Amino acid sequence: MKDLNSVWRKLSPAFKLTTAYVAILMLISLFFSAVLYNLAANQLANSLRKQYVQLQRPNGSTVIIPSGAPPTQVQEELENGKRNLFLQLAYFNAIILALSGAISYLLAKQTLRPIEEALATQTRFTADASHELRTPLTAMQTEIEVSLRDKKLSLSEAKEQLKSNLEEVGKLRTLADSLLRLARNGSSQGMEYKVVKLDNIVSYATKQIKAEASKKRIVIKNKVKANSIKLKADTKSMTELLVILLDNAIKYSQPKTNVEILAKQTSRYTQIKVKDHGQGIPKVDLDHIFERFYRSDSARSKNSINGYGLGLSIAAKIAQQHGGNIEVWSKIGKGSVFTIVIPRQTK
Ligand code: ADP
Repeated sequence: MKDLNSVWRKLSPAFKLTTAYVAILMLISLFFSAVLYNLAANQLANSLRKQYVQLQRPNGSTVIIPSGAPPTQVQEELENGKRNLFLQLAYFNAIILALSGAISYLLAKQTLRPIEEALATQTRFTADASHELRTPLTAMQTEIEVSLRDKKLSLSEAKEQLKSNLEEVGKLRTLADSLLRLARNGSSQGMEYKVVKLDNIVSYATKQIKAEASKKRIVIKNKVKANSIKLKADTKSMTELLVILLDNAIKYSQPKTNVEILAKQTSRYTQIKVKDHGQGIPKVDLDHIFERFYRSDSARSKNSINGYGLGLSIAAKIAQQHGGNIEVWSKIGKGSVFTIVIPRQTK
């Protein structure tokens, strides 16, 4: 029994589900076959008895043969009929078994695919998140251990050490914030969709990013102001989306350049563009930048550019929650344009 259990546990989920489907189908089929067999066998026995009892004479009168055991010839005929019936039902059940096995296996595979994919994404996400958490933690641990071992550690060195630790703590905090945002953006709970002016969202976002921009002396040109575009959105998350795009535009641009925010409406869509004149994104990365934890090699190698590759996946999720998406155009050395496209507010 234990052996059977361990063999069962080792089987693939698709195979287990197939077995369950087939078992249910076969139970139903066998039950109805048994009922059918009994009914048909009884009917056969009755009709044989009738044929035997009511023998037609050439002149039309009926001869009733006394009751008792029917002659062996009739018994044989009944047994033959039953055997044929049994064989036909067995044949029919074998076909059902083969067909249901094949169809159930295909169905089980199809049912399990999205579950397996979600599980794989979840596992990858957990592994990536753990890896990103480990890096600053390991750096901090090593630094603290070295300092503790150093008996001649001066006050200024200790302060330097604390400063470096604080930087790592800052990184961990940013990561924890991004992970929380990602978890929160997974559901639309708490989102309030109202008709809002795009001007307002743009000014909330630029306010939040102002300090970062001025550190690099980057000018954010808001070309939406004169517009009176309205959209149905959750103000908080739409502002967050714009902040992510503006933050990236600043991070991946040279100092003293411009970042522009533009907007336009077609009959069906509202488009909001964030345009920078920065380093641009290599073609090979364009298909992946919206994946969680994806960072282009240039972003990874430049330690000064902070980030975990979570911003754009959060941004894409917010756009999706508004029924839209984000498009990107980019050219190395020229810059990038990220366009938020959401269905137009018609009322
Ligand atoms: P992060 O910026 O934290 O690395 P994101 O998810 O926001 O993560 O971006 C993913 C990657 O896309 C970045 O690592 C970077 O390589 C690239 N990227 C995003 N925005 C820009 C931009 N405006 N200019 C150049 N590269 C960008």
